[in-house]
Amino acid sequence: MEKEAAFAWKQQDFTEEAMTVIVTAYCPCSICCGKSDGITKSGTLAKEQHTIAVDPDVIPLGSQVYLEGLGTFIAEDTGGAIKGNRIDIFMQDHNQALQFGIRKTKAYLINQKV
Ligand SMILES: [Zn+2]
Repeated sequence: MEKEAAFAWKQQDFTEEAMTVIVTAYCPCSICCGKSDGITKSGTLAKEQHTIAVDPDVIPLGSQVYLEGLGTFIAEDTGGAIKGNRIDIFMQDHNQALQFGIRKTKAYLINQKV
């Protein structure tokens, strides 16, 4: 009985789509990207408060992703170091991206464009 109750509580609180992610930030400079045109893997122009880089095997490109405490973003880009539960948030300024540091939060897939 006890175990069943605990299981039900968990199912309710954590949806299947929620995952714990490690979040860092990047800017369009050649240090962060190896290029500096600001064009994402999806072919769009990267935008602040909008673009994130993901591992497309984990989060399909085009997905709308809510990052707890950070806001809602679109998975538009990829990165060499972005594998598994890593997410990189696009920022216009290199120092701002550095200052963001490394954070841990929860990611929720809001919808997926296939
Ligand atoms: Zn940079």
